[in-house]
Amino acid sequence: MDGNVADIRGLLALCDQYDALLLLDDAHGFGVLNEGRGGLTERARASDRVIYLATLGKAAGVSGAAVAAHESVIDWLIQKARPYIYTTASPPLLAACLLESLRQIEAGEARRARLFSHISQLREGLGDLKLGALMPSDTPIQPLVIGANAEAVRLSQALLERGLLVPAIRTPTVPADTARLRITLSAAHSADDVSQLVEALHAIT
Ligand SMILES: *Cc1c(COP(=O)(O)O)cnc(C)c1O
Repeated sequence: MDGNVADIRGLLALCDQYDALLLLDDAHGFGVLNEGRGGLTERARASDRVIYLATLGKAAGVSGAAVAAHESVIDWLIQKARPYIYTTASPPLLAACLLESLRQIEAGEARRARLFSHISQLREGLGDLKLGALMPSDTPIQPLVIGANAEAVRLSQALLERGLLVPAIRTPTVPADTARLRITLSAAHSADDVSQLVEALHAIT
């Protein structure tokens, strides 16, 4: 919800200490973050303790999910996971699309660079915003805390009238009085799109 990044190194150290497994639900990291940017470290990749869940409906642009883990975990899921057992298998069409997504993710350094440049542009542009402050986030999810639910909804509506889709996230999804505008950047945006949003946020009151 907040675009923050888990301390995977710290969590893995705790797992080593207490002989525990680590389930990483990397819905927003997969395809976007890489090592040095909060992505999986080499150590996490190599660890038998990690159960890695990649959501395929976000950066990969298709649907479904994939689990990577030690063989014993995968065998257990195949035998025991009810949704896996009782749901019709994903269609081959999806696998074909996903192969292309994976190719694009692997060769996606330019897209990731553009995305991270949008993030810097947004954060610089909103540094002195009167409406509120961006939460700390180095990722494409950039929440702007407004406070009251009604105010967040009103601002979201005002942005929509300017052609900008920025949903309001309200209590009880987030703690009381921290209703926010959830800005989500994409590599498909242009620098002009980001400027337009920055200007609109400065203009609406
Ligand atoms: C989106 C999301 C999911 C669910 O992904 P689906 O493709 O809708 O199943 C799971 N976990 C997190 C953290 C997500 O953001």
